[in-house]
Amino acid sequence: MTDKKEKKPAVAKIIDGKEVANAVKESIKREVAGMIDKGGNGPHLAAVLVGDDPASQTYVAAKEKAAHAVGMMSSTYRYPADMSEQELLEVIEYLNNDNEIDGFIVQLPLPAHIDESKVINSISPDKDVDGFHPVNVGNLVLGKPGFISATPYGIMELLNYYNIETEGKHCVVLGRSNIVGRPVSILMSQKSGANATVTVCHSRTKNLPSITKKADILIAAIGQPEFVTADMVKKGAVVIDVGIHRIPDDTKQKGYRLTGDVVFDEVSKKASWITPVPGGVGPMTIAMLLKNTLQAHKNKLEAGKKA
Ligand code: NDP
Repeated sequence: MTDKKEKKPAVAKIIDGKEVANAVKESIKREVAGMIDKGGNGPHLAAVLVGDDPASQTYVAAKEKAAHAVGMMSSTYRYPADMSEQELLEVIEYLNNDNEIDGFIVQLPLPAHIDESKVINSISPDKDVDGFHPVNVGNLVLGKPGFISATPYGIMELLNYYNIETEGKHCVVLGRSNIVGRPVSILMSQKSGANATVTVCHSRTKNLPSITKKADILIAAIGQPEFVTADMVKKGAVVIDVGIHRIPDDTKQKGYRLTGDVVFDEVSKKASWITPVPGGVGPMTIAMLLKNTLQAHKNKLEAGKKA
């Protein structure tokens, strides 16, 4: 016999996005039920879908189903792919002025002949529950109230739910997109929020592993399947994997498997906390969209009282 303790590989604790998303949705459901009990209508979320991209159709259907599940009203406005930009802007104008609709999203991507930023800029910031309008992005940067886009908002909720310490930690964000990397880097650095020290990396970053290895919290949002390997991660780091990819796999019934930007099997043996794919960041996105819609509804009621 030996008195040496057997060295077991460390296994990260799982950040369970399904559990957290369910908790967020349960809380929304209770609040909406309370509003309806008091004679209100509850929030109403609308989605605008242009064209027949299968992924977009799936996302919009999932959003509609989730809205109904928490007791919200939900409407989807469907248009053919050859809809003109002007026609879409008119739909947005209509939704901006429809007092029954609290918030709406225009499902991206749009057909190539439509200017996405023109469309986003035309959405009323008060109804922009995706948080993509420059006014909401500006409020995010300034740390003022506004709609935070759902995926970064969901990441913050995950860290918060599990009481993961962020203050003073070194957070490395891989990716600087407008919908994930950049907003999450701002949220992580905010004084009245996560209060972390943040490094943002992108495709021109030199010697990436030397930077990721210094991260206490590593947020991977680069859209490259299984890019982050164990040798890029510091022992005990918190790893948030935003990526989602379908990898062809004949051993699976569906013919593919889902994976993230991180090699889960090896990184989970080194990290202290990790989000799985699927079941990590993904489920949070719709939950936070609903949270924004509830907030838009409350803002409308508040504004009505003041008027
Ligand atoms: P984008 O393609 O818009 O942005 C990717 C970012 O990663 C860019 O900033 C790019 O740099 C950087 N990048 C790409 N390759 C490298 C590399 N080799 N090294 C360093 N940086 C690199 O992606 P998104 O932000 O929209 O999405 C990222 C991932 O998250 C995707 O897999 C997407 O499917 C997923 N996603 C998941 C969501 C969810 O709900 N779970 C929601 C949204 C996205 P540069 O700026 O220089 O081009």
